[in-house]
Parts: sequence; structure tokens; C-alpha cells
Amino acid sequence: MSDNKKALNDVKSYVEKIAERNNWILNPDKETLQNLIEGLMVNINRYGYYNCPCRDSQEDRNLDKDIICPCRYSEPDIREFGHCYCALYFDEDYDFSKSVEMIPERRE
Ligand code: SF4
Repeated sequence: MSDNKKALNDVKSYVEKIAERNNWILNPDKETLQNLIEGLMVNINRYGYYNCPCRDSQEDRNLDKDIICPCRYSEPDIREFGHCYCALYFDEDYDFSKSVEMIPERRE
């Protein structure tokens, strides 16, 4: 892997930092978390930015700027539903005894 490629650990550190900075927590389901981190790693290495792992990229940073992780919708989604659209980040007080549901797409 060349030096400018991000490895899984780089991406993991990135999302951990974002979570910490916002008082969010990462999805506690290890497999889901791993899949999302892998998706972000593919996207940063393919496009050069952290395109949301559950939304299609237009392969243009400017057109995708609202869905660069953490996306523009993450804060209102976490406030309203307790987690972001991909269920990567959760409110620190999220009640995990209830199942994690899909939430509506806030992006137009
Ligand atoms: S929905 Fe979640 S994972 Fe996707 S970009 Fe927004 S914050 Fe990141």
C-alpha cells in the first residue's frame, strides 16, 4: 500500500476522534462498525474524501460536500433519531435495548 493510502486503523482513528469531539459513540455492533469503516476506507482511497459509506458518490468533492463524513445531516439526525443515517454515530445516551431502525433520508 502506498503512503498516501489510508489503512483501516487510520479510518478507525478518524471516526473515533469525530465521535469523541461530538460526544457521540460508535455503533457497538462490531460487524456493522467494521463494514462502515471499510466503506469509508474504500471511499477515501477512491475519491480522496470520506464520502458517506451508505450514499452514492458523484465523484466530485464539491457535489458531495454535504455527505462527507460526518455529513451535514448527522447532527440533526442524531438529535432527532439518536443516530446518523448509516448508524455509525450514536447519541451517547442512546437506548440500545431497542433495535436500530432505518431513519428517513434527510438529504434532498
Ligand atoms: S450518515 Fe453517518 S456515516 Fe454517513 S456521512 Fe453521515 S455521519 Fe458519516
